[in-house]
Amino acid sequence: MIGKLIRCINCNEVMGITEWDFCPQYIYNRNNGTIKEIEIDDRKEFLQRHKGHKIEELIPITPPISDKPYTEPTKTCYFEATNGNERFLIKRWRDKIDSPFIYEIIKGSIEIKNIEVQVQVEAIKKQIRMVKDFCISEEKLNNFIKAVQKEVKKLDPQTLEVCAEGKTPSISYCKLSDDCVEGILKRCQDKFNLQELNFLRNFILQNNYYNDVMTLIVKKNFFIKAEEEARIPCRCVAEAKT
Ligand SMILES: [Zn+2]
Repeated sequence: MIGKLIRCINCNEVMGITEWDFCPQYIYNRNNGTIKEIEIDDRKEFLQRHKGHKIEELIPITPPISDKPYTEPTKTCYFEATNGNERFLIKRWRDKIDSPFIYEIIKGSIEIKNIEVQVQVEAIKKQIRMVKDFCISEEKLNNFIKAVQKEVKKLDPQTLEVCAEGKTPSISYCKLSDDCVEGILKRCQDKFNLQELNFLRNFILQNNYYNDVMTLIVKKNFFIKAEEEARIPCRCVAEAKT
């Protein structure tokens, strides 16, 4: 999660502040046994550069969005933050793994283009086939998958309960709700016997956690809706004078 930021209203520049509060850097001096706090240059530099300017606090209101894996430390991400009145779209990145984050306000907003909900078809089939003492025909297995897909189609992607995050921020795993499970079993009633239905019920319930095979893969495609850049003012006049 991204912490609070400060914004210079005059210059429209931002900087993260949480890193200073929670991770001050200290150096241990072996010679005299003291600990010295290192001044973080970026903070000093920012405050000096904006001395006398109006500063306000921004609070992030969306999770950071990126299509890169969480494990990639230098990835660029986007999020929105507010000062209570206005929303700002902020880009965050760093050049090297050990350098501080750089923040920049850009004109635009984050939009969710579409949400895809996927049933883990192959994983479900593989797992059912692996169960000892239970054997169903390929046809029945396909009927079960179809029942799941039909029931999932009815769901509103916005209301799904996330139970695990995927490798990138745009992927998450969502649990099947109780209603959805009942709906799937109802669709299976005609084609499966009682023993098989009991098996399916247990199978769904046991594999409906974290990123288990019965959970749904939800992909959100984010995009940055940029506003038209302001025109760069013509400097001819000022340059001619000097
Ligand atoms: Zn400033």
